Amino acid sequence: CGIVGYIGFRESQPILLEGLKKLEYRGYDSAGIAVFTEQGLEVTKTVGRLVNLENRLTGEPLRGTVGIGHTRWATHGKPSDLNSHPHTDNSLKFSVVHNGIIENYLELKEELMMAGHQFLSETDTEVISHLISVEYEGDIVKAVQRAVKKMRGAFALGVLTEHEPDRLVAVRYASPLIIGVGEGEKYIASDIPAILEHTRDIYILNDGEMAVLTREGVELLTIEGNFITKEIFHVDWDL
Ligand code: GLU
Repeated sequence: CGIVGYIGFRESQPILLEGLKKLEYRGYDSAGIAVFTEQGLEVTKTVGRLVNLENRLTGEPLRGTVGIGHTRWATHGKPSDLNSHPHTDNSLKFSVVHNGIIENYLELKEELMMAGHQFLSETDTEVISHLISVEYEGDIVKAVQRAVKKMRGAFALGVLTEHEPDRLVAVRYASPLIIGVGEGEKYIASDIPAILEHTRDIYILNDGEMAVLTREGVELLTIEGNFITKEIFHVDWDL
């Protein structure tokens, strides 16, 4: 139900956790984060309150300057550790957080299972990470575009792949998502309060739009792949 993502030069874990706390008002039943660490893309997730996730991370922090985080409001599959986000594919090279519902997920899941994919969760979301891994041919942006074309429903997505550790991809379709622009660091979030302590310069994505974040900049495009430009929205209010 809430998404936060960070790419920059600071440790991402505290930024993700603080951001998720600011989104608690949206309600949730579980939470998790994925971070690029020296060992690769690592995920920690757990059912229950954010404090459970924090406790787990205190013992074993995920260190790295790129990450995505999620608070889940279960729609498909009970609240559980395995059903929590982020979700990965079988190669463990792709990681996805998702708000919304994939209406045709059963159909997609059957096709993927026939092709040999193994699923760990009961969620609609897990098909997204698998689809992206199938569509991946060296460019995460194109893979996400091709995957999204097969999906029906509502989705705000944050996507990371170990193949391209300097990019964070975000998509919005019928579920809110904003992009925060800082100096040498960029953010995604479901809502402005999650990142307001870091930046006041925001791009508000519309339905059918996506963003490719690097430390240096943000590329905006449609899910069909056409580049677009947008005015920065400067937030002049405080929490
Ligand atoms: N449909 C997804 C799930 O049940 C995402 C729910 C959400 O928006 O948090 O896992």
